[in-house]
Amino acid sequence: MRSLTTLELQYAHRFYGFNGEAAYLHGHTGVLTIEVEGSVNMGVNMVFPCNEIKKTAWSVLKNFDHALILREDDPLLPAILDVYEKQGIKDGHPNNVMKGEAFKTELATAYPDCRLVVTKETMTVEGMIKIVYDLLKDKLNIVKLTFSSGDNKASQCYESSLEVDRCPLCGIALNEEGVCPKCGYKKG
Ligand SMILES: [Zn+2]
Ligand SMILES: [Zn+2]
Repeated sequence: MRSLTTLELQYAHRFYGFNGEAAYLHGHTGVLTIEVEGSVNMGVNMVFPCNEIKKTAWSVLKNFDHALILREDDPLLPAILDVYEKQGIKDGHPNNVMKGEAFKTELATAYPDCRLVVTKETMTVEGMIKIVYDLLKDKLNIVKLTFSSGDNKASQCYESSLEVDRCPLCGIALNEEGVCPKCGYKKG
């Protein structure tokens, strides 16, 4: 069975070099649905608590929320960083607090201090799915991702590949020592 969670990301981007209106900087509310598969955990009668999927995903995906997403070769990137630098906000501002864990993968690098994500490929809905899977595949047993933004929507299915040991009392993933980080249950 599957547990699903949906989260919203508000971001600005553009398609650099694209022949159409998306070549201009614009914003979206994107909706991401994550489907996690597993057996039903007997103790709690669920696959995975949906709020835990959201928490795990949000810790890194927060970097995309209220962020600017630009491709690495976009000339807007140095121009914007130059403005941020001159304003003294490139390396952070006391009011910029909703920051995720910085990350760097082959597909994307997050700079939470200036609410920027730099991508290797154009950040289409398909591009976002590739980035999200890469960021979360070792944390959640994702079997499907769906991302929609305006009229654009894409989805991708994946082979179930990750076995997650779960707490029989609260359903969340046990840590490396086999202990539940929430209730302290220890795997016997
Ligand atoms: Zn767009
Ligand atoms: Zn527990």
